[in-house]
Amino acid sequence: EGWELFRQLNRYMNEQFAPQDEVLASIRRSMEENGLPSISVSPATGKLLTMLVAISGAKNVLEIGALGGYSGVCLARGLGPDGMLTSLELVADYARLAKQNLEKAGFGGQVVYMVGPALESLEELVAQGSRFDFFFIDADKENYVHYLDYCLRLANPGAIIAADNTMAGSGIGTPRALGRRGEIMRQFNETVARHPALDALFLPIGDGVTVARVKAAKEER
Ligand code: SAM
Repeated sequence: EGWELFRQLNRYMNEQFAPQDEVLASIRRSMEENGLPSISVSPATGKLLTMLVAISGAKNVLEIGALGGYSGVCLARGLGPDGMLTSLELVADYARLAKQNLEKAGFGGQVVYMVGPALESLEELVAQGSRFDFFFIDADKENYVHYLDYCLRLANPGAIIAADNTMAGSGIGTPRALGRRGEIMRQFNETVARHPALDALFLPIGDGVTVARVKAAKEER
């Protein structure tokens, strides 16, 4: 009952506020043709990413988990012409398809892919002294807390951190046992919610999106 209402509202959100245009539909088709799993963000989550990047005025965006480039295009759509997206992906074939899809969507000059385990790429970015204004975490769930640590190390003050799949099914707000993946997400959300350097909220959009803002040092308590 409650769960069905939630699903209905998400359907409504997807249909009314995030109807899929030809570019996004063609990305989903290309993924199907190439045998990629259909685990991209929901249309409404994609729209949320576009809006958050645009509203925050982020110039440097880091994505962890590219898959076929669906969320990559959504993030790039929020960027201004001088904005850049760096995207980390474990599977070289996925990164190749994502790159093609970003090129087709007109963002070829605004995206860089780093192939390999994200923890290694993140270490490289730290060593390079890179800084980002926006992070989207959407790779292997076990490493979400480690990705969060890296995001904090790579963040400009005021940066936004968004993470997908943090609802992990219908039980996240209940005392029910959630299974391994659910417990990982409960732990992740708790870490984000209690972190002194973050101001955060959980949004029940798609599979759940946790959004946090990195406070400026003077705001920390
Ligand atoms: N963000 C994508 C979208 O919405 O279009 C979907 C990403 S999919 C849920 C997760 C991706 O993370 C997969 O493409 C997977 O290959 C990648 N991945 C898994 N483990 C990884 C790791 N250790 N380092 C980097 N990428 C990883």
